Amino acid sequence: MKSQDIRNTFLNFFEEKKHSIVPSAPMVLKDDPTLMFVNSGMAPFKEFFLGNAQPKNNRLTDTQKCLRVSGKHNDLEEVGYDTYHHTLFEMLGNWSFGDYFKKEAIAWAWELLTEKFGIDKDLLYVTVFEGSDDADKLPMDQEAYDFWKGHISEDRILMGNKNDNFWEMGDQGPCGPCSEIHVDIRSAEEKAKVDGKTLINRDHPQVVEIWNLVFMQYNRKANKSLENLPDKHIDTGMGFERLCMVMQGVQSNYDTDVFTPIIREIETITDKEYGKNEKVDVAIRVISDHVRAVSFSIADGQLPSNTGAGYVIRRILRRAVRYGFTFLDKKEPFIYRLVEVLVTQMGQTFPELKVQRQLVENVIKEEEASFLRTLDQGLILLDRIIENSQTKEISGTKVFELKDTYGFPEDLTDLILRENGYTYNHGDFDKKLKEQQGRGKEASQLKSDDWTVLIEDEEQEFIGYDTLEAQVKIAKYRKVTSKKDGELYQLVFNMTPFYAEGGGQVGDKGYLENAQGDVVYIVDTKKENNIAVHFAKSLPKNVNETQKASVDVKQRYRTECNHTATHLLHQALRDILGIHVEQKGSAVHSKYLRFDFSHFSKLTVDELRDVEDFVNRRIYGKLPLQEKRNIPMQQAIDDGAMALFGEKYGDTVRAVRFGQSIELCGGTHVKNTGDIWHFKIVSEGAVASGIRRIEAITSDAVKEFYFENNRSYFEMRDLLNNAKEPVKALQSLQDENLTLKKQIDGLLKEKAKAVKGDLKNEITEVNGINFLAKKLDLDASGIKDVCFELGSQFDNLFLLFGAENDGKAILSCYISKELVASKGLNAGTIVRELGKHIQGGGGGQPFFATAGGKKPEGIEEALRFAQNYIK
Ligand code: ATP
Ligand code: MG
Repeated sequence: MKSQDIRNTFLNFFEEKKHSIVPSAPMVLKDDPTLMFVNSGMAPFKEFFLGNAQPKNNRLTDTQKCLRVSGKHNDLEEVGYDTYHHTLFEMLGNWSFGDYFKKEAIAWAWELLTEKFGIDKDLLYVTVFEGSDDADKLPMDQEAYDFWKGHISEDRILMGNKNDNFWEMGDQGPCGPCSEIHVDIRSAEEKAKVDGKTLINRDHPQVVEIWNLVFMQYNRKANKSLENLPDKHIDTGMGFERLCMVMQGVQSNYDTDVFTPIIREIETITDKEYGKNEKVDVAIRVISDHVRAVSFSIADGQLPSNTGAGYVIRRILRRAVRYGFTFLDKKEPFIYRLVEVLVTQMGQTFPELKVQRQLVENVIKEEEASFLRTLDQGLILLDRIIENSQTKEISGTKVFELKDTYGFPEDLTDLILRENGYTYNHGDFDKKLKEQQGRGKEASQLKSDDWTVLIEDEEQEFIGYDTLEAQVKIAKYRKVTSKKDGELYQLVFNMTPFYAEGGGQVGDKGYLENAQGDVVYIVDTKKENNIAVHFAKSLPKNVNETQKASVDVKQRYRTECNHTATHLLHQALRDILGIHVEQKGSAVHSKYLRFDFSHFSKLTVDELRDVEDFVNRRIYGKLPLQEKRNIPMQQAIDDGAMALFGEKYGDTVRAVRFGQSIELCGGTHVKNTGDIWHFKIVSEGAVASGIRRIEAITSDAVKEFYFENNRSYFEMRDLLNNAKEPVKALQSLQDENLTLKKQIDGLLKEKAKAVKGDLKNEITEVNGINFLAKKLDLDASGIKDVCFELGSQFDNLFLLFGAENDGKAILSCYISKELVASKGLNAGTIVRELGKHIQGGGGGQPFFATAGGKKPEGIEEALRFAQNYIK
């Protein structure tokens, strides 16, 4: 069966069982503080399991793009070396939210695998949770065991421990026992030798888990105790690529039609063959895997960058480039050329790939090219490190610097060092790395108490579109502590006028005030699993009483100006540059707005002016806000709204319209574009290949901007003696400066020439060496000139010159090349040694080197030292 059909068979099977098929959620999470990427099928449904929102149907089925490269699930190091772990993979799932439970989940899984897919029962094993005798004292999952018994012979039901067979969402929240389904696809011969049972969960490449059925029946509280969940849920996840391996009768995920077209293309491009040499094979698997992860993430709007999720993506791509560089001898970009095959393969199921192919290719190509340059540079640096090393062990700190500062991967350094007969200090390297990781982690780690619930079953409502002030009740609260922010309280209200950070717009700030006039500041508002959480500096007194919640009006107004302007900017760019322009990210703050979009060249001055004009005309046109809340997605699309890739939309949406600008948007906006006053672009530049970024300001910030510009203009004019035409005045100052510089240069050269003439006569022969050590009154470049000039006139020359400039000392040493060769002298080593006399250091080449220091008094000493040395 083709992979495409396998996927459809799964979805259709559950559709027949009254499940609604839903599309994969974006893989990159935008508003989840705990997770960067979706790493399992359940992540997009967290809010349903927690009861914070209701799904349209309590039975759903889907295939979800998952990425396991960071945090709790990190398979990155396995990828390429084994044949069944990927960075990006699809997880097929069926979901019950408080509807069916173990009986149906088990029966249907069995029916699908053995009847629909026709997998031989003798290939399958299942596991059941055996219970635990730790603090939780959990019973064995007898229920699951009994249901399985109805389908599969008992000797194929294995007991599993808490590690494998008890699933938890995190430190807190829903959890429960699970049953895994494993396949044994070894040859009959192998099976006769070793019993399959003994290989389950033992990392055998042909005895692997394919499906995990999770039975959520408990809730883990912050104090670690468990309570029963009122509604029990089913969460299942089957690895699509592994299922394809079983269905297509092959022994590796990479031999399924999910991967073979990509692998064939790599073979063609690199002129290597898959299946001949283990190192080459690993490289090919790594690249065919990583190109998927990187392409999907770019299509979801996450570009490679230097921080957060973007950095994770950059690292994945660099890992792929590195394998190509080292094992496939590819020194120029080529991974981007695989995107075309991937699109043919996956574009139908994941249209975001198809539509954005050009962008994905451009970004990958640009990243590849720039990392290949880094690799080149890194190789040079590494060569130098090896050359200068006194011992065969390089310091771990140096290797860390290479990685940290130049992005040169540790494993590559390791490889090259070994090839040259060197090692490095792993202990020091690890220490440095831990120090760095620890710094980031500790600062942001959040420790949270259990929620104290004051109002059960709160139905939280956002009323902040219509009002900025309301009487609210605190529904629940908890204390959270982090090193970065110290102690804060998270508050959830029954309803709130505070906008929670999302869709690029920052969260509202403001305050709470009780009847006695006690005030508590709200410093931020964020969404967690679909609920607005307010961060307060302290816990309000009388938490049970009604509080007046007030949003910081000024900040909200400025933010709204920027948000509305962002929509107008989007419209302007599409109108002026063309409809290939797509939003690729935005940040709406109170002080400024930032907008990233796809476009292939720098905007010209005229284009920028046109864009500004376009937006400002709509601001002066005083267009009213027309919004439609809770309309079906399709209706909004029919009205002309555009859905963005990488955004997760609910079944109903809010459409925001100003004139001809229509967007799906949950953010807050001005009531009328006239409120914005004025729009001004402050910068335009590239973020990545094919992605541009505009930063702009509106309202008060524009006034501030013009005011500041005006002030510095007058200050400048003052400095130019109130010149009538300050630009001209400045220009002539610059010209004058240039002329003066030239004159000084000329004078210095003349001086050097004069000095040279005198010096010639001072050179004396010592032990067959033409030698001179002297303090000169020249600058560094003058001394260098003199050295090379004399060098061209004398053989066997050794020069050491000292000079004092602006209170600093310099020493320059010149040694004729024949002396370097015959006597083994090295100017670099010599100046480094002599540098000690002037409290400094330096280096250079064996025939010419310079040291700088902060103790000019030491120059004479250094010269004397050299004199004695030569004698
Ligand atoms: P494994 O022990 O093989 O790593 P897991 O216990 O991490 O699997 P789950 O978290 O239960 O797996 O995920 C559900 C299913 O997703 C697994 O049964 C497997 O088929 C698939 N899966 C998990 N991790 C990967 C991966 N890195 N690449 C491909 N498929 C995976
Ligand atoms: Mg795993």
